[in-house]
Amino acid sequence: MRLTKNATQILNARYLKKDINGKIVETPNALFRRVAKHISNIEEINRKEWENTFYKVMVNLEFLPNSPTLMNAGLPNGQLSACFVLPVKDSLNSIFTTLKNAALIHQSGGGTGYNFSKLRPKGDVVTSSGGTSSGPIAFMKIYDAATEYVKQGGKRRGANMGILNVEHPDIEDFIKSKSDNVSLRNFNISIGISDRFMRAVQLNNDWELINPRNHTVHKTVRASDIWQTIVEAAWKTGDPGLIFLDTINKANPIPKQGGIQTTNPCGEVPLLDHESCNLGSLNLIKMVKTLDGKWKVDWDKLEQTIATTIRLLDNVISANHYLLPQVKSKTTKNRKVGLGVMGWAEMLIMLGLPYASDEAVQLGEKLMAFIQSKSYDASNALAKERGTFPNWNESIYATEKRMRNATCNSIAPTGSISVIANTSYSIEPLYALAYKRVGILENETQMEINPVFLEKMGLLGLWTEELKFEVMKTGSIQQAKSVPKKIRKLFETSLEIPWKWHLLHQRAFQRYTDNAVSKTINLLEKTTKQEISKIYFTAWEYGLKGITIYRNGSKPNQVLQTCNLN
Ligand code: ADP
Repeated sequence: MRLTKNATQILNARYLKKDINGKIVETPNALFRRVAKHISNIEEINRKEWENTFYKVMVNLEFLPNSPTLMNAGLPNGQLSACFVLPVKDSLNSIFTTLKNAALIHQSGGGTGYNFSKLRPKGDVVTSSGGTSSGPIAFMKIYDAATEYVKQGGKRRGANMGILNVEHPDIEDFIKSKSDNVSLRNFNISIGISDRFMRAVQLNNDWELINPRNHTVHKTVRASDIWQTIVEAAWKTGDPGLIFLDTINKANPIPKQGGIQTTNPCGEVPLLDHESCNLGSLNLIKMVKTLDGKWKVDWDKLEQTIATTIRLLDNVISANHYLLPQVKSKTTKNRKVGLGVMGWAEMLIMLGLPYASDEAVQLGEKLMAFIQSKSYDASNALAKERGTFPNWNESIYATEKRMRNATCNSIAPTGSISVIANTSYSIEPLYALAYKRVGILENETQMEINPVFLEKMGLLGLWTEELKFEVMKTGSIQQAKSVPKKIRKLFETSLEIPWKWHLLHQRAFQRYTDNAVSKTINLLEKTTKQEISKIYFTAWEYGLKGITIYRNGSKPNQVLQTCNLN
């Protein structure tokens, strides 16, 4: 198989099996064989055929499962899921039990999300000792420190999502808890937002902060003051994001199992306490074909690949080793999976559609509607073959459709697997046409000119030394007059694309994604607080399940930077 240098580096460092001396003992092909074999073991008939089918979609880089599946399948006690949510109740016992469980999950390559809103606020009474409570943020700092020191067997640092609901008395401190750009570096933080709060902001109403211990009003503030504090903190550092809990719960497939309060670290999977989910992503640049010399979406191949990979992800649930019995129980009763996409921006370029265009947004919607509908068909077929998910009777599907999985789709960030597949992240626009990638592997930088861009420039006879210099210097061709305007438009990068288009793409994909869409709205440094307020508000109005922004330069260490020849 053909892999890029970046892909090989990442595979060597983190994915390929090593012996006790740290020597790599498998090839990339053998890795995909190991994964295919392990997850086809549960097939009762045609096991070998399924192994080959699964192997083929991975080795052809048409689809990749989330990192823990690639790293751990077929290894002793291999934990295969990327996403977990754990409960945090208002007791030291619960706080430290969950901390221990999170450490075990991080060690296996999974990420954990928690909602800290049940914890009594800082300074509140502790009856048993007569003392006062340290509050949610103090306990998050302990989680953060633990994460720092559990470096996942040298593979990857852990990832956490910390949520506090907007009515919690400590909300102001929480909003600012990452504003120093030092604290809680292993956390993404989000405010749990209700529709009621958004309307209170709209109407400039009062807002009551409620002590979760006794449900009494702790303090009354103005909703718009909290909103302003959120906007200012997000403007300063990108944190906090928002999670729209009512929107999430309107789409909860099994409300009888309880309300959803939390997502995994990057926000693409809302889960119940102790639930886990495994993800996988279709590589869209492999889902095109040429027709009359032009690239077109290959709908047949897409449909076939969806059927294969929903089965593959369902198998992962059965072939998984669960670190905690509660997680095994919840996960196998709901059997949630998240099939998503990577390479969207590059697919658009191949099709000749600028990201910032109505045609691109419409195609995004059509594509995701297709993926969702074919995923449901695949899950329905699996239900006929293997039975529905055990909680199906209680689910919204009970009167409608037999389903093997309570959810089928999520749009994950594909931070590592898109590098392995050599395509653009998730549904993100290209960040730059050339860049150095800092810190994916610690102490290493990787240089890259986007291959789809290079190919197109070559085909059009536009690739010159001058253009190369321009691209290496700025990461962009928007100032390159030698390139026709229409072509330049096709290669607008993340920061050159107005935020409106970022949100429209997120909405297009969210409309047909039963879980959520992880997306970062990348913004120019000069973006104002008013604009950020508008973006956060629009996200709610658009029915997004969450929103994350990042204003260029607002954190000291960015993963992606444009090249600078100096
Ligand atoms: P990958 O490309 O490695 O499969 P993604 O970037 O798509 O992963 O992230 C998917 C999910 O995997 C995240 O939302 C999070 O739950 C988990 N995850 C990602 N990175 C980490 C990490 N460094 N440590 C733990 N979990 C992670």
